[in-house]
Amino acid sequence: MVQPLFLKPVFKERIWGGTALKEFGYTLPSDKTGECWAISAHPNGLSEVENGSFKGKTLDKLWKENPELFGNPQGKVFPLLTKILDANMDLSVQVHPDDGYAMANENGELGKTECWYIIDCKEDADMIFGHNAKTKEELVAQIVEGNWNELLRRVKIKPGDFFYVPSGTIHALCEGTLVLETQQSSDTTYRVYDYDRKDDQGNLRDLHLEKAIDVTTIPHQNSTIVANVEKKGDTEITALVQSDFFSVYKWNVKGSTTFSFAGQHLLLSVIKGEGSLMHNGESYSFRKGNHVILPVGLGEFEVSGECELIVSHP
Ligand code: ZN
Repeated sequence: MVQPLFLKPVFKERIWGGTALKEFGYTLPSDKTGECWAISAHPNGLSEVENGSFKGKTLDKLWKENPELFGNPQGKVFPLLTKILDANMDLSVQVHPDDGYAMANENGELGKTECWYIIDCKEDADMIFGHNAKTKEELVAQIVEGNWNELLRRVKIKPGDFFYVPSGTIHALCEGTLVLETQQSSDTTYRVYDYDRKDDQGNLRDLHLEKAIDVTTIPHQNSTIVANVEKKGDTEITALVQSDFFSVYKWNVKGSTTFSFAGQHLLLSVIKGEGSLMHNGESYSFRKGNHVILPVGLGEFEVSGECELIVSHP
């Protein structure tokens, strides 16, 4: 029987991490927990099914052995990765390659286009998004001279903001930001600048300037996102982005709504409140911090409660 698949998150310690992920009800490995890999088939952090007949099975195996759950896809790997990031300190300034560059230079890894829904942030928070160089020569010169304030663009952010970050975009989350990230399933990051920070052993982290300069889009392209809001039953659905790699929506549920998605599996992350999902006479309760895959073939289901979900599909 096809049923919703609840997933067990994997946590990653990061030098910039903190304890904010506790508010999702998670038990954290340390007070420097930076990332929750919530829905992942990437070998660096595999999600495992927590319920039903697939209990204990990892998402990469599920993709290979039960392709019918995903509509018998062509792709060799589960294409998306959902994370929650707690930037307790500034993250390094970085850029990611596209599929072609990653395929050629990173052992067939996918490229990394990502997007961020700002769950929470401190007052007056900002982030780094894009650069001011007009040519490659200018980009190289500014990096070599360390003119970071001139080179890097900063934008103000607030809770509820959404950013689409195509591969080739120089970016960094800054201190005091809690983000739900939907990205291609890739772990390739080229670090451009790390604020000259040292780790506990007094070492600087590696930079990857040559590759970073290779893949950076010059000049920076601003991607304007126009969110489209639509009401379905008691749910307000905001279409945040529809790109070549993923579509991402926010569902604001107040009451109950019946859905049906033929031929499309969905990734659900509960970022606020709680509710339940009724399917085939069975009720599955969920709350903030839960992550669920709704497989193809689920048919009709009803979502009720008072909650906010980030929903995506390839
Ligand atoms: Zn990134």
